[in-house]
Amino acid sequence: MKYGVNEQGYYGDFGGAYIPEMLYPNVEELRAEYIKILSDPEFKAEFDQLLKDYVGRPSPLYHAKRYSEKYGANIFFKREDLNHTGSHKINNAIGQILLAKRLGKKRIIAETGAGQHGVATATVCALMGIECIVYMGEIDMERQAPNVARMKMLGATVVPATSGSKTLKDATNEALRDWIGNPVDTHYIIGSVVGPYPYPDMVARFQAIISAETKKQLLEQTGSELPQYVMACVGGGSNAMGMFYHFLDDEEVKLVAVEAAGKGVNSGHSAATTFLGREGVLHGSRTILMQSDDGQVVEPYSISAGLDYPGIGPQHAHLYKINRATYVSITDDEALNAGLLCSQMEGIIPAIETAHALAYLEKMTFQKNDNVVICLSGRGDKDLSTYIKHFGF
Ligand SMILES: *Cc1c(COP(=O)(O)O)cnc(C)c1O
Repeated sequence: MKYGVNEQGYYGDFGGAYIPEMLYPNVEELRAEYIKILSDPEFKAEFDQLLKDYVGRPSPLYHAKRYSEKYGANIFFKREDLNHTGSHKINNAIGQILLAKRLGKKRIIAETGAGQHGVATATVCALMGIECIVYMGEIDMERQAPNVARMKMLGATVVPATSGSKTLKDATNEALRDWIGNPVDTHYIIGSVVGPYPYPDMVARFQAIISAETKKQLLEQTGSELPQYVMACVGGGSNAMGMFYHFLDDEEVKLVAVEAAGKGVNSGHSAATTFLGREGVLHGSRTILMQSDDGQVVEPYSISAGLDYPGIGPQHAHLYKINRATYVSITDDEALNAGLLCSQMEGIIPAIETAHALAYLEKMTFQKNDNVVICLSGRGDKDLSTYIKHFGF
């Protein structure tokens, strides 16, 4: 695959595994085993079965008629919002729990910021009867109390990270400390296409089901498996990578990735990584991240918790640098308005993350017969209080 990872774990200048020596055995075990396990027919059969009967796949490809009229092109929504637990995150969580089982792991750890990845992880651990420990910043636990309750209801132990800023990066540190201390029996489930190799490639492969299904569905609905545009929002970049994956080598398909501009790219409150970032190392891989002149990670901001991340996965950094995909950004206000528009024109309340991708339609111009696929990464139930606060319902 032209844009895939090479044997050293790199996408062009990006990727690799920048980890402390004490983590080497854990990451090396994954690297040595993941391709073998993922290509095992029994693994594939179990993964596919769970995606079908538990997650509810294939997710529909919905031709949004009123949107199509408004924007003057055929707009399709890939409905990841209809998955069990409400977003694409479950695809990866299922894949990784099956992998952990095959590696003989008895214990799962994860870190979570807003709690969505924690909930997906707690869900698959309940499904498999495996112990689940989720690290979460103490401040995030207060801000995201409903997701903490969900994880507990699902049987997970939620451990507050009380050091530093008491948010996601501190939770990540705690999870890594745990993993170093428990290398033999524990698997660490990372929730996006980030982290040291092989995580970015492994997560992309689990999420690639999104574009695999889309190609088939487009062929049925339009007579061609290739659209003119494929669009998705980007936090770490897993729904976008899954949406792009099987279109990467189809150079005529334009790929559009939408980042969160927060209060504006120059406001000091933003998460528009490609606009504001530079090359460096974040969470175990070489990528593009928001950093100060002396290389300290800059605290990102977005109204959507899922896009509030200071970097992007290394494959995205590569696609950006070589111009295979276009990276753009949308502000909080633009996203909220797009969320309202989609609700009232299509009867679908999208996650605020997803609303960023929808908002970018306003800035595009299409030819009449263009086919455009947008990844509807998640449903907006979790964001209702934010929508209510903004619109005053
Ligand atoms: C977590 C999340 C995202 C952002 O994560 P990616 O890895 O960039 O996909 C986007 N949309 C929804 C609904 C999410 O829950």
